[in-house]
Amino acid sequence: MRKVNAKEISLLLDWYREHKRTLPWRDEVSPYRTWVSEIMLQQTRVEAAKGYFLRWITRFPTVGDLAAASEEEVLKAWEGLGYYSRARNLHKAAKLVARAGGELPRDKKALESLPGIGTYTAGAILSIAFGEKEPAVDGNVLRVISRLTAEPFDITKNEAKEKVATDLRPLMPDGETSDFTQALFELGALVCLPNALPRCDLCPLAGECEAHRLGTETDYPPRTVKPEKRREALTVFVLALEGKYAIRKRPSSGLLANLWELPNTCGTLSTEDAARLYDGEITSLPPATHVFTHVVWEMTGYFVRLSAPPAEKDLIFITPEALRETYPLPSAFSSYRRYCK
Ligand code: SF4
Repeated sequence: MRKVNAKEISLLLDWYREHKRTLPWRDEVSPYRTWVSEIMLQQTRVEAAKGYFLRWITRFPTVGDLAAASEEEVLKAWEGLGYYSRARNLHKAAKLVARAGGELPRDKKALESLPGIGTYTAGAILSIAFGEKEPAVDGNVLRVISRLTAEPFDITKNEAKEKVATDLRPLMPDGETSDFTQALFELGALVCLPNALPRCDLCPLAGECEAHRLGTETDYPPRTVKPEKRREALTVFVLALEGKYAIRKRPSSGLLANLWELPNTCGTLSTEDAARLYDGEITSLPPATHVFTHVVWEMTGYFVRLSAPPAEKDLIFITPEALRETYPLPSAFSSYRRYCK
């Protein structure tokens, strides 16, 4: 099998230095900033992550500040990004790092022992912020290398990532590991795009790329069949009482564990069935859908102006300001939270 070579890396680095985007985590580089940005970017588009990153760094400028915050504050700062275990792990890891002196370790094993930091994130922190020769190989990097070498990697397998990391490690130039890692990300994000969209006309590696030479760019990496998402029906209530709105905590395990939610029940309730649950004036709200990784919520909504407090003990009533400022509500409910005003 053909491997990536030094000439390709040199072309890639030249291209990156000319075309790299201005991104907030690149303005000033530190292990903490690289860590936060990489965790945010795991499931979030760059454009969406920018604002979150700036607000996060303003609110928690150091590992110590993050460690000292309450979980509610951390989740509030993460509100809308989804995959809240990422925020919880950042918080847990920050506490461990703060207890050990406040500096992220410059060591792969020690980094990987922290909650939420896997091989890829450890590689990104080590190469970008510490200047260590440790590659960070994610699905984007695998796609680029798969096309460049016409090697049909299974991007869902760790063995493929390990193999590519082993091949890339000796090619990481002294003092340029940060640009090396980011150049590969950047090419995957801007030029060697997924599916049928590689922009080979803009690619600095077009003259070297095996898949491009063969005209088989879109055959690499081979597609994997994704399982169908489960569809769940849910009826969501916006319960209003004297200018306040009801929320409650979700169960401590499962989807959106321990986060706040608008009251809801399984299934699609008719207006008549919904009216039987609460005393008050009921209005139908537009249906909404939220797509998670494995599940799709198909939601029916009702606004109820309550005439008396409901019997449920787990509900708390809060002002719209408190909902905005203090309580993290997952974006799955965003279609209905707008009625809490
Ligand atoms: S030439 Fe095309 S397929 Fe090959 S690395 Fe560049 S963008 Fe990707």
